[in-house]
Amino acid sequence: MHHQHEAKQELGPDEHIDPVCGMTVGEGPGAITFDYKGAKYYFCSPGCRRAFEKDPEKFLRGGPQSHM
Ligand SMILES: [Zn+2]
Repeated sequence: MHHQHEAKQELGPDEHIDPVCGMTVGEGPGAITFDYKGAKYYFCSPGCRRAFEKDPEKFLRGGPQSHM
């Protein structure tokens, strides 16, 4: 009947994907962000940002991963 839901999420104009856990994060005064190589990344929590800070390439290369 209708297609399987695609993995790609639909983002609003002020929404971003947390590269660490894959959650959708909205912009706002309390947004947790990190600038890396001229790009701004948004995170759902300080813990996710810290993980990204430690090894940004790992998340940018591998995409969102829940845990390993
Ligand atoms: Zn997160």
